[in-house]
Amino acid sequence: MKTLHFLPVPCALGGPPVAHGQGSDAGPEHLQHLGFGAVSRSLGLRAEWHHALTPLQGDRWASLCELLLRLDQRVAELAGPGRLPVIVGGDHSIAAATWRGIGHALHRAPGLLWIDAHLDANTPATTPSDNPHGMPLAALLGHGDPSITGLPGPALDPQRVVVFGARSWERDEHSLLGRLGVRVYAMAEIEQRGLHTCLHEALQRVAGGDFGITIDMDVFEPGEAPGVDCPQPGGIQSRVLLAELRGMARHPHCVGLEITEYNPHRDSACRTGRLARDLLETLLLPESADLRQWEAEHGAHNYAPLPVMLARGEGSWLWDAEGRAYIDMMSAYSAVSFGHSNPRLVAALESQARRLAVTSRAYHTDRLPLLLKRLSEITGYDQVLPMNSGAEAVETALKAARKWGHQIKGIAEDQVEIIGCAGNFHGRTIAIIGLSTEPQYRKGFGPFPPGLKCVPYGDAAALEAAITPNTAAFLVEPIQGEGGILVPPAGYLKACAEICKKHDVLLIADEVQTGLGRTGALLACEHEGVRPDGVCLGKALGGGLLPVSAFIADRRLMRVFTPGDHGSTFGGNALAAAVALEALDLLVDENLVERAKRLGEHLMRGLNDLKSPLIRDIRGRGLLTGIEIDPAYASAREICEALAAHGVLTKDTHGTVIRLAPALTIGEDVLELALERIAETLQEFEHRVPRRA
Ligand code: PLP
Repeated sequence: MKTLHFLPVPCALGGPPVAHGQGSDAGPEHLQHLGFGAVSRSLGLRAEWHHALTPLQGDRWASLCELLLRLDQRVAELAGPGRLPVIVGGDHSIAAATWRGIGHALHRAPGLLWIDAHLDANTPATTPSDNPHGMPLAALLGHGDPSITGLPGPALDPQRVVVFGARSWERDEHSLLGRLGVRVYAMAEIEQRGLHTCLHEALQRVAGGDFGITIDMDVFEPGEAPGVDCPQPGGIQSRVLLAELRGMARHPHCVGLEITEYNPHRDSACRTGRLARDLLETLLLPESADLRQWEAEHGAHNYAPLPVMLARGEGSWLWDAEGRAYIDMMSAYSAVSFGHSNPRLVAALESQARRLAVTSRAYHTDRLPLLLKRLSEITGYDQVLPMNSGAEAVETALKAARKWGHQIKGIAEDQVEIIGCAGNFHGRTIAIIGLSTEPQYRKGFGPFPPGLKCVPYGDAAALEAAITPNTAAFLVEPIQGEGGILVPPAGYLKACAEICKKHDVLLIADEVQTGLGRTGALLACEHEGVRPDGVCLGKALGGGLLPVSAFIADRRLMRVFTPGDHGSTFGGNALAAAVALEALDLLVDENLVERAKRLGEHLMRGLNDLKSPLIRDIRGRGLLTGIEIDPAYASAREICEALAAHGVLTKDTHGTVIRLAPALTIGEDVLELALERIAETLQEFEHRVPRRA
């Protein structure tokens, strides 16, 4: 990739007069504060940020012409083989020099993709406002005042110029472009034919040889980018354009970029500036193959992801870097229960991030108490200990149980035992994998802490037999998730609760995956009327945006913790608290527990109706479902890869199980579509001769 050469041009001379630094001339500096230049570094690109080219004081038109002359010269120095000038405006009048300067360096005119709400193709003779920012395109094509049409460098070839996104123009400029043969994709056409089709066509026209892209931020819908000088309703939605422009600046023929007309004074929330930053990043994004290679080279190989590179998510849909859409039937193992980028959660995140995020628990914040109170009210437990990951919530529970066992139950120090279940999954810390029965999770990681043992899952008698006077707690998942969506026999949890009570043993439920509505009850233990002594929550508590977990219990257990016993720098931070609080409110406001129950029944019926010979078993509760695949046909991994090819993302576990855990907010139509795609995929495997035959 070429070296980027950022050139800020803080110019507001194109529009009506404004006080110095009060218009789009303030844009470049604001963008730099927002990390505009740093984007290139994080993408692994070489970049230089050059001194700003500032206008001289004086008559507006004369100052502008003088600036354009210098800009032309400077761009000509910065352009050329192995270099990509990135001109950061200022208003769009500067484009009159940028693209002459690039042609000047190349000794030929580049093609140009002009992305803008306006045509910018007036001349001094046709402009109603007399503002030079309405003229640069005409000037680049050789029409207008000689002081700007006569800048060094060739005029553009109209056949290789495309205007994209226009929706506001004077009759004269439209007819000038028409006469010259410039292709204009107005918003009405883009809306009618689709942005993808139009942009693809536009690029064919401009990108046959060297080409550049100039973007006026007013091309976007003003609701998304209010910080522009001339907002025009009916603009392009940013996510749609950004998805299409991905990696475009890495095109071997791309010779320059220009982003203009960010006026921070019209956008106190900096939305336009952040969008400009996203736009630059999108234009520069590496190819998926490169990203994959970087991951393989610089990342530890502790995962084997499906071969999909995701770039965007919204609700129950995910899009990969190439723009293919997938139904997310996994929701990050239930962490995305409210769908991707849920607007309420994103709003809570954004506003809190601007206010206060992390202070550590060395101080109180005005957010955490709200979460503690709400979580306590909603779950009916006295107290909450906030952490980050699910594993930390479980570690917290183990520590609580050990200290309770010693201090309250009177078990000798260091003799406390905790019982777990075979096939469990509670996370990956040393203590937790000490309780795991999965050989791969343990091998090579010992020694493990003593005092941990397992009994068969679903066997209450085995639990009772394993309890000794030193047993402090029984840790159990109401449904084993990672273990293969295993639902224990009816009455199991109830029997366990009675046994625990009888022996003064704490019942601790790991509801990191099953909690917060996933199974059609707030907590899965409720299906059996069981109220554990302590509950671990995680995943969905972070609203799919942050890691937020908690251990919740009544005072009789939680009182074992005193200041200094346990904690985490990030646990309970203000940002996490604000998001978790909103997540809990969403759960209630949108009646998602009930929805999970209803949609879960629908999903289960739909899967049963498939009557596929590949399916050996379908199990689960609410929207936590496992499909056991007959390995004679295919492995669960093979099916998951085929499902991805059909636009459905799921995940295999234990070789034979496909798990389905869509967002609780998934639309019924999307769920139906997922079922259709699952059916099609399974049918493709049906013709396979079972391997055992
Ligand atoms: N407990 C259960 C039941 C889980 O399913 C998981 C993760 O899948 C965890 C704990 C660990 O959570 P985390 O990965 O956030 O540490």
